[in-house]
Amino acid sequence: MIVRTRFAPSPTGVLHLGSVRTALFCWLYARHHGGNFILRIEDTDRQRSTDENVEAILEGMAWLGLDWDEGPFYQSRRFDRYQEVVEQWLQDGKAYHCYCSKAETDALREQQMAAGDRVRYDGRCRDLRKPRSGVDPVVRFRNPLEGEVVVNDKVRGTVVFENAQLDDLIIARSDGSPTYNFSVIVDDYDMGITHVIRGDDHLNNTPRQMNMLAALGAEPPEYAHLPMILGADRAKLSKRHGAVDIRDYEEQGYLPAAMLNYLVRLGWSHGDQEIFSVGEMISVFDIADVNQSASSFNPEKLRWINQQHIMAKPAKELGQALLPYLLKAGLDPARGPNPSDVAAAFHERAETLTQMAASARYCYENFTVIEANAAKKNLRPVVLEPLQAVRERLAALPEWTKEGIAAAIEETAASFNLNLGKIGQPIRVAVTGGAVSPPIDVTVWLVGQERTIRRLDHALELIAERAAAND
Ligand code: GLU
Repeated sequence: MIVRTRFAPSPTGVLHLGSVRTALFCWLYARHHGGNFILRIEDTDRQRSTDENVEAILEGMAWLGLDWDEGPFYQSRRFDRYQEVVEQWLQDGKAYHCYCSKAETDALREQQMAAGDRVRYDGRCRDLRKPRSGVDPVVRFRNPLEGEVVVNDKVRGTVVFENAQLDDLIIARSDGSPTYNFSVIVDDYDMGITHVIRGDDHLNNTPRQMNMLAALGAEPPEYAHLPMILGADRAKLSKRHGAVDIRDYEEQGYLPAAMLNYLVRLGWSHGDQEIFSVGEMISVFDIADVNQSASSFNPEKLRWINQQHIMAKPAKELGQALLPYLLKAGLDPARGPNPSDVAAAFHERAETLTQMAASARYCYENFTVIEANAAKKNLRPVVLEPLQAVRERLAALPEWTKEGIAAAIEETAASFNLNLGKIGQPIRVAVTGGAVSPPIDVTVWLVGQERTIRRLDHALELIAERAAAND
């Protein structure tokens, strides 16, 4: 058997973190088994589905590298097919027209609630022989009245539903449009889906869907219902807990592989391993390791995982990933070091690429002010001479290499009998405008010879002014 999974988002909202986790599990399961992953856009709700949301879903999936083998299929383009099944079922008596008005079903509901009964359609049109004139009927599925439906869920175990508890659900509205549960089963059947992996908010739909699949003459697929993702306060994950739109994480400088790594651990584990490459996830992922309890979203852990992925990524690739963030920060990569050199120098200090671009600003752009505290502490008259000396040595370097720079700084320190930090820190403040940066030789190298000399000259002027003011 070839495994076929599907991700079936409704484009009634943006691509939500919880949906990405579902998509990831479907994708991993298909990839692990060498099967197919299908993307299906469930846009039957024409009012609430938008093209922008479809775009956001497709872009998000592409950014994450969750590639699909078939699709995207759009349910809105398959109405003829749903109609065909409805007609067939009406002919076969598997479905029937229901003429009940809203007033009637409302009254029924009130009556059931007053009596403390379960609210459900009572099947009063089941055996109606004659159409009622002047009413556009809905179509209802003739659900079995007796017996039970057993869902052998791969996460939840065996869950039993009584048919007596399920009512005859509407499969086509009075305007002919199909309803959610119905279009899902027609598609799962037509697309040969073998494993339905989705959020456990759909567990209650499953017995209805299984009954309808049986009416189609189909074997049900395997089901796996994933536990919810909650916020730190144990409420369902929402905007209140931080960004839930996947695009916000791209914007903030998270790596796609880090997002996937973080999300795979929400509800799944493999021993106590925390860091996974995408390849590793594919090779060890199994539905049997999905846990039943809800997991909670922890932005701090996400940042930590992102940092681990930043550190593990080869400098060249990290540089490519950094490039759009430099541009977004308004920096011109042509006016400074190669982004991969920046990536190599900064990869241990940044939790996100946005942060990395911000910290590398001085490599590409001149600054106007030096941080007051750093200047006060490090640009003092006592360093005037050593700083002047190192400026001369650096200016005289015929080639701008890290080794040459390191030697120039070391020689200067030695000649003034200073330890390295005593000269390194003033240089750092002069060339970066602040007190924190990668190792000093690397920092100076990234800033470049011309800029370094100019910035040292500026710092020397400041020190001289300070010395004069102290006199
Ligand atoms: N379209 C449904 C949703 O977005 C998913 C349906 C399914 O996976 O069966 O919640």
